[in-house]
Amino acid sequence: MSLFAADAAVPGTPYWWEESSVEPEFSSNLPDKAELLIVGAGYTGLSAAIAACDAGAKVVVVDASLPGIGASTRNGGMFGAHPRLSYTELSKKFSKQTAQGIFNEAQDAFEFTSNLIHSERINCHFEQCGRIQLAWTKAHLAAQRKQVQQLKLVSNMNLELVEQHELAKEINSPCYFGGIRFPDHASLQPRLFHDGLLEAALARGIPIIANCPIEQITQHHNRYIATSRTGDRLQAERVVMATNGYTQGKFKWFARRVFPLPSYLIATEPLSNNLLSSLAPGKRMMVETRARHSYFRLSPDGTRIIYGGRASMTPISTERAAMRLRQSLTEVWPELKNVKLTHCWSGFTGYSFNHMPHVGSHNGLHFSMGYSGSGVAIAPYLGAKAAYMALEDERGTTAYQQSNFRTRWFHRTQRPHFLIAANSWYQYIVDRLDNAVAARDRE
Ligand SMILES: Cc1cc2nc3c(=O)[nH]c(=O)nc-3n(C[C@H](O)[C@H](O)[C@H](O)COP(=O)(O)OP(=O)(O)OC[C@H]3O[C@@H](n4cnc5c(N)ncnc54)[C@H](O)[C@@H]3O)c2cc1C
Repeated sequence: MSLFAADAAVPGTPYWWEESSVEPEFSSNLPDKAELLIVGAGYTGLSAAIAACDAGAKVVVVDASLPGIGASTRNGGMFGAHPRLSYTELSKKFSKQTAQGIFNEAQDAFEFTSNLIHSERINCHFEQCGRIQLAWTKAHLAAQRKQVQQLKLVSNMNLELVEQHELAKEINSPCYFGGIRFPDHASLQPRLFHDGLLEAALARGIPIIANCPIEQITQHHNRYIATSRTGDRLQAERVVMATNGYTQGKFKWFARRVFPLPSYLIATEPLSNNLLSSLAPGKRMMVETRARHSYFRLSPDGTRIIYGGRASMTPISTERAAMRLRQSLTEVWPELKNVKLTHCWSGFTGYSFNHMPHVGSHNGLHFSMGYSGSGVAIAPYLGAKAAYMALEDERGTTAYQQSNFRTRWFHRTQRPHFLIAANSWYQYIVDRLDNAVAARDRE
């Protein structure tokens, strides 16, 4: 029996792509000179370009492919800027001061990106619907309880613990033991957000060069020479690398610090209002605490479920990913066992080894990357920070400069071969352990 509905989209096409009607005009030739060159035209690169242009710099943006083809039009559209690591983990890894700074900046990043959406009048179905992080086991709920108490003491973050008996207001699933609610978090349509940033950059007269992979950047005195695959050259005074999970091997220092971890998403066929209201009455963005890390939501028009997760840590076929995600979806909501899918797609998140975003400079090249699967709100914020840093503008200061951008001994080449072993470890040990503990807790 096919998993897909008869009118399913071409496998690999993101659900979000159908709603875009923008046909931006990209430049085809690399100019000779720029004050600031930005490599990569996703959320990071475009926000960096807008910030730099508004600060008076002459900017050029270059993308290896069609701008937006990376994670910025493929993601789940979950919008929140709280760090992936807890306050205690951040304090241990860095310092209390850095942990405090990073937690304070969560609110700054949220406000920066939501203000950008409003000031540029980007119509991307931005809605402050809230997010719930669902506890997969009793131990996860106990850890969440501590986390809420701690964050209320050390940050101004708006969050509340949801006990298991209160969960029915949020989600109707046998799987979870409670959760943390972030009432301020939001949702958006990722492609429309990217379209809006593109339009804002083009309206400022910023040249955006498509299909122009930069192969190498060399330094000559105080200038940088960027060479494209076709041999064209651009001379820039400053550079921002905004290539994240699509960083290519030639940029070895970056490729060894941020690796491409695939994430997969499916969209169900349209479901009835009654069914959707009973499955997800809270209508929030939903994420899980288990290592498999499923995340799901209603589509912006409220007609179907968009369900994502780590179907594999190495690239697999869309059909295989669809099968795995659908199985996981029906564990959460057994009522959906006969539901058909219309879309399945994937993209590369730029993962760092300490799960934190990084911003700074290396050999004079400024960068912002490594959002580790949570970049919709933070990438535009840190992209702007990287641009300000490159321009030596004091607005570039951020606690994320302290987050130690390091590689690991097992990631020696530019290709992340270690993910093959990591995939087996998660699939055969961690996921099974997570499921066994959850099954015992449910008895
Ligand atoms: C499936 C999926 C689901 C996700 N869901 C969420 C979510 O719900 N919430 C959330 O907060 N985050 C989510 N994320 C993460 C989020 O999408 C990213 O963090 C964010 O889009 C990063 O933006 P970016 O501009 O840094 O990178 P990208 O959008 O990936 O852009 C990088 C660009 O660099 C270009 N490039 C690379 N090398 C070169 C070169 N040599 N020359 C020129 N150009 C180059 C690429 O072509 C690409 O366009 C998800 C990611 C994926 C893949």
